Amino acid sequence: MDLDRALESLLAAAQPLAETQWVDTFEADGRVLAQHLVSALHVPPQDNSSMDGYAVRCADVQTASPTHPVCLPVSQRIAAGHSSQSLQPGTAARIFTGAPLPLGADAVVMQEDVGTETTADGASMVRFSTAPAVGQWVRRAGEDVCRGAQVLAAGTRLGPAELGLAASLGLARLTVCRRPRVALLSTGDELVMPGAVAPEAMPPGAIYNSNRFFLRAMLVRLGCEVTDLGIVPDSRSATVQALADAAHSHDLILTSGGVSVGEEDHIKPAVEHLGGLDLWQIAMKPGKPFAHGHIRRTGGAHGQAHFMGLPGNPVSSFMTFVLLVRPFVLRLQGVTDVACPSQVLPAHFSVVKADKRREFLRVRRNLHGGLDLFSNQSSGVLTSAVWGDGVVDNPAGTTVSHGDAVRYLSFADLLA
Ligand code: AMP
Ligand code: MG
Repeated sequence: MDLDRALESLLAAAQPLAETQWVDTFEADGRVLAQHLVSALHVPPQDNSSMDGYAVRCADVQTASPTHPVCLPVSQRIAAGHSSQSLQPGTAARIFTGAPLPLGADAVVMQEDVGTETTADGASMVRFSTAPAVGQWVRRAGEDVCRGAQVLAAGTRLGPAELGLAASLGLARLTVCRRPRVALLSTGDELVMPGAVAPEAMPPGAIYNSNRFFLRAMLVRLGCEVTDLGIVPDSRSATVQALADAAHSHDLILTSGGVSVGEEDHIKPAVEHLGGLDLWQIAMKPGKPFAHGHIRRTGGAHGQAHFMGLPGNPVSSFMTFVLLVRPFVLRLQGVTDVACPSQVLPAHFSVVKADKRREFLRVRRNLHGGLDLFSNQSSGVLTSAVWGDGVVDNPAGTTVSHGDAVRYLSFADLLA
């Protein structure tokens, strides 16, 4: 199975969740907007000054030059948050950053560029030695957002900048898609939870469950509500029971391990028994076995839960998650653009032996603008994902020579 086809097929099955909810804009980081946001006002609401200085009518200071400065009386003082009166011709207004431009003024001269003096009778005067351009240091009403404009589209994942923009429109609450409920479970009799057994007391053959930690963290970052169902023993009945229970109250059941077709791999028969399953041998490395299917809800509950089974090898689990589960979970929340951006960068390494499968090589950007390769690309070596800051997406059957342009996907993007 080709990776792109697998993703297409998954996305086709990811019907966005219909339920939406109102959340406080403060709490909406990472959530997905369920409604277009249209601005009910101009941002900024009115013309205002972007400097501390003096607002003028340009016509009044048109002739100003260093040799023939123009002096104007200061007729009002306008601070941010306060209102102004229209500017009397032949005068200047003392103005501060963010303060509304008085009617009639068409430029601001910054305070560093003027001279000030007080006349004998105590009046403030300001001296201009250059003629300002119309619009100088003025932020126009609506230059950020115009009233009636669509500012953010439904399906946008909200980040800090989007929250700030929504707040600038006066929106204290936003309609977002509800969080997907995901049940996470690991399979494997060899697995031990950190904390349950001390390293020096680990029985032979036992390893710590590492997948559960990064999978949970990645799901949480994607806005999911995660139920951690722990480790399921390698037995048919335990697997069936755990999956059937989880299907009731979850949108997605995600497992790691046990999706090969060995005698100790119980996921496939269990999911087939409870619903339906496609087991794919995806032409990617690390990765390969990946299961997708559904589990029917029983006992009065209706519908079905999505099922995804990741390979057990940590880096395979990690990569299949970021390349397949991540876009799926985002689409469940209605995100329209689920593709991960890539960059073309020079390889500062070589791959002499081409692989039959499309390979995701753990690499790291170096100080010379190129990519270095981690020495051990084995699918069990999680150190590669910590050392690396991304992967090179190397097409099947391709060797890489030093200096070749390659496609780089950063972990910053893949884990966002
Ligand atoms: P499996 O896919 O169950 O055949 O497992 C493949 C390899 O991944 C085996 O070496 C497992 O011990 C290892 N593995 C499976 N699940 C985990 C896990 N949760 N954490 C760390 N290693 C795992
Ligand atoms: Mg196993």
